[in-house]
Amino acid sequence: MEPVAPVPYPEALAAEPVAGPAGLLAELGERRIPVETGARERAEHARDWWPPAIPEAAAGRVARWPGVVARPRTSEEVAAVLAACRHHGVPVTAQGGRSGVVDGAAPPAGGLALDLTALDHVLSVDPVSQVARVEAGVFGPDLERALEPHGLTAGHFPQSFEISTVGGWVSCRGAGQYSTRYGKIEERVRGLRVALIDGRLVELGAHGPHPATGPDLVGLFVGAEGTLGVVTEVTLALSRRARHDASAARLFATFDEGLEACRRVVQRGARPAVLRLYDEAESRRAFGLEGCALVVLDEGDEALVEATLEVVAEECAGAERLDGSVVATWLERRNDVSALAPLWAAGVVVDTVETVAPWGALGPLARDVRAALEAVPGMVVASVHQSHAYEDGACLYFTFAGRPEGDPRAFHRAAWDAALDAVVAAGAAVSHHHGVGRQRVEHLARSMGPAYELLRELKALLDPEGLLNPGVLGLGGELR
Ligand SMILES: Cc1cc2nc3c(=O)[nH]c(=O)nc-3n(C[C@H](O)[C@H](O)[C@H](O)COP(=O)(O)OP(=O)(O)OC[C@H]3O[C@@H](n4cnc5c(N)ncnc54)[C@H](O)[C@@H]3O)c2cc1C
Repeated sequence: MEPVAPVPYPEALAAEPVAGPAGLLAELGERRIPVETGARERAEHARDWWPPAIPEAAAGRVARWPGVVARPRTSEEVAAVLAACRHHGVPVTAQGGRSGVVDGAAPPAGGLALDLTALDHVLSVDPVSQVARVEAGVFGPDLERALEPHGLTAGHFPQSFEISTVGGWVSCRGAGQYSTRYGKIEERVRGLRVALIDGRLVELGAHGPHPATGPDLVGLFVGAEGTLGVVTEVTLALSRRARHDASAARLFATFDEGLEACRRVVQRGARPAVLRLYDEAESRRAFGLEGCALVVLDEGDEALVEATLEVVAEECAGAERLDGSVVATWLERRNDVSALAPLWAAGVVVDTVETVAPWGALGPLARDVRAALEAVPGMVVASVHQSHAYEDGACLYFTFAGRPEGDPRAFHRAAWDAALDAVVAAGAAVSHHHGVGRQRVEHLARSMGPAYELLRELKALLDPEGLLNPGVLGLGGELR
């Protein structure tokens, strides 16, 4: 994926809203923590990859100006920034690669943008136990480059691999494209170092795999999206780098038949790294095929990979066998998002919504969400694929595109509400790997029911003034 080109914000914007409170700036200055108060830096840190923000950013518009950007270099400096923000009552938003797609990494107006990308060290690699300790701001390619000489991999390859960080993966509970073999990021996290709003640094977990030492405090911060604390270091379990790979592709007559085959494959214990099933619309769009295409790819130890492909062949015996060009096309295009910005610029509203549900619910859920999206006035197309599979269920990933007559934002909201209403009605999860941000707040509260109050209570305990990423997960008061 190409790095995102900086937007040429007009210099005149430098005169726009004054930078954060003088007291805060003075305190950060005394502690020699690098800060930026110029318009360009603040504008760049004002947005993430939330789709409605893409045309705004392209036009050089800033919806909410952060007051200041701080770029601490150590965990201790992160903790000091948080303590200073609390002292001066300034909201603070942790930022990694700002590749989040749910309006979670864009700070509130006047808030502090806490850029963590200077925490960019792989601190240690233990090739015997296959664990690494990594700073939160390390980007995907840098992590893999550090692990390669040890013959190891983190196995986490999201489509945003090049523009996202370890801290962001953990905070959003991300999933890589090879997650059916390697697991989601929460399955790889063994420990965390977390800075709290009162300036404390706490070490959580990392005493070995799966200890039985009380409730899982690591889990409290995994998926918290910067609302409970700031992750500064992560201990990750690793895998051996693949020595062998193999692939296959099949065409099913219906999406339901393909889902059934995927279920049988994983429930027999096979874990192909990639096991992705596309509906008719996506099979046509991606591969020019009529039917539902299944892409299978595995890597690792040769004996395990070949056995996995054997299971796939047996469970997909009723489907049409496709040649290698399908997998080659998938590999070539899997990280290409170049069409997104031009589509938004041309007035086409495009976005994706992912969910996860038990196998028994997936067929009807796919139909219901697609139908709900198609019923939104202005919708042109709604489609789905199954992207990450588990023994008990799988992730469904919906894509929609519309050309609304009126306000694109209103259409975007209506499409999301339609999709998530159907998801909540089915008892499925409101997100599988993109997180909640500010986009899914009402649906999160509804789907959690009374348990949402418990989350609010935890928030009040850890961040009584509601300064950590206000608005995200619906916590910390209204967006300021
Ligand atoms: C083109 C594209 C493709 C994508 N593909 C995938 C995919 O395949 N799989 C997937 O899972 N996601 C995907 N995403 C979404 C996004 O990349 C992930 O959510 C990613 O994990 C975010 O990481 P980041 O470093 O960019 O975090 P940011 O966007 O900077 O932050 C995301 C959230 O986490 C919080 N946060 C960040 N760092 C920390 C920290 N150290 N401590 C506490 N809170 C923190 C932020 O406050 C924010 O709420 C994609 C995004 C894009 C734009």
